[in-house]
Amino acid sequence: VSAALGRRARPALAVAALLGVAGRVGAQTCVAARPTDAEGYLGFAYEGADVASFAAGPGGRTVVWYARTGPHAPDLTSTRPDGVPDHVARAAAVGDDALGRYEAMGFRRPPRDDDAPPCAAGADGRLDVYLVNFQGGSDGLAANSTCLEAGPVVACSTFVLVESRLEATYGTFDRGVRTVLPHELFHAVQNAYDVEFDRYWAEGTAQWAADALDPTLDDLERFLPEFFEKPGRPLDSSGGGVVAGHLYGSAIWPAFLTRRHGADLVRQAFERQAQAGGRALDAVDNVLATHDASIATEFPLFAAWNAATGQRAAPDGYPDAAAYPEVSVDALADAGPTAGRLAGLSAAYYAFDAERPRRLAIEADPSRLAAFYLPLEGGGANLASAMPLPFDASGEGVIVVAGTSASLTDANFVLSAEPTSEPPPVPPTPPAPTTPPAPPVAGDMSPPPATGAPAGPPPGYQREADEGCSLGAPSGPRRGRAPWAWAVATALLARRGVRARRRGRS
Ligand SMILES: [Zn+2]
Repeated sequence: VSAALGRRARPALAVAALLGVAGRVGAQTCVAARPTDAEGYLGFAYEGADVASFAAGPGGRTVVWYARTGPHAPDLTSTRPDGVPDHVARAAAVGDDALGRYEAMGFRRPPRDDDAPPCAAGADGRLDVYLVNFQGGSDGLAANSTCLEAGPVVACSTFVLVESRLEATYGTFDRGVRTVLPHELFHAVQNAYDVEFDRYWAEGTAQWAADALDPTLDDLERFLPEFFEKPGRPLDSSGGGVVAGHLYGSAIWPAFLTRRHGADLVRQAFERQAQAGGRALDAVDNVLATHDASIATEFPLFAAWNAATGQRAAPDGYPDAAAYPEVSVDALADAGPTAGRLAGLSAAYYAFDAERPRRLAIEADPSRLAAFYLPLEGGGANLASAMPLPFDASGEGVIVVAGTSASLTDANFVLSAEPTSEPPPVPPTPPAPTTPPAPPVAGDMSPPPATGAPAGPPPGYQREADEGCSLGAPSGPRRGRAPWAWAVATALLARRGVRARRRGRS
């Protein structure tokens, strides 16, 4: 879709303007006029049009603004007694539902904008949605309204612009507004914590959140190909050349974290970021520590899960893995070792196929990279049997090399696969599951069972609930631990000096 590049962008302009005002924002500042104002927002102005607004009663969380004349007007067809266009009323209903459900998931309510200065006409505390004609360049955006310093971060109220003729791109306005508006409104939720989220985390979690509200929309999946085709691109890339496909496709990261550690992990990371500011990776790492895990242990697992999709889908990976694209897999050198290089939290994959056992080994800085062998059985990946290198392997599999550090300096490695005359060693037997199940342990490849009763998301929130997976079934059987994962996790945790904390918390 040609509109993909610009769609649902959070304009850096607004943040830049915000931070440029009086150094830091000490007092309220009107950052941006709105389409209802003469200046408009980023050129989007209703100008002389006949403008109306609609809110779904006094309990409505959103107000939808629209033009009844001129280029920004939506389809004005109405089947309602009050004559409000059906598309406008639908947008208000979808917006109210999304904000209500984000709140039910435990997220902060977006700050009210009724303290907005006079440059923002119509600000009344409810969240304003402006239907505008993007002329194909985009189909939505979220804009900061008024901002206040909150400790190390800046939090803002937000208004959003949404394409008035979404039916042109999405087939129906209903499908379009259910795809776009919850995404934009989640940016408003993010702005309650920190307006300077890393871009991949802002877009990735917005995609993840919209998918949580309505898993039947395939928008999360639609942006995965770019992310999966370029596994060597660091997760937190955001500079030049990083396209929307990577930013939106990074939704697979919060999807993985949620599947592994529960639906509340993203919210906890938001809270941490609001307290500490800084990078999303640091906030996530901080929260993972309370789950006896870390970025260093989780990212290699994420890389492994990403190799277990499409034809290689594994039952203990993503519930929708079979519908996901496949990561790019390279070939090992025809003869001799295979040299490679990664930077940051990225991954490389190599196809392996040998009738006779070969000793797979890697030379690399263990503080930067982890490597393991993921066997394929009947074409499908067996995540539970993945083993760290060195390992004597035969048969068909994928060698996964993944970053354990966000450092962007080069991390070189050399893979070797020399024939071995010795019989392959018997893999160590993983510890038997205990009864009752042990608490989740870093490195466990399987989704942990739901424990306790955290302030839960509303019914239907967890996409996995419809897939019959163990995440939503506390009484379900616990899957075995991956033997490689024990070794990797133990080594990583020991190096990080946090081993003592592994079982210290529930
Ligand atoms: Zn966005």
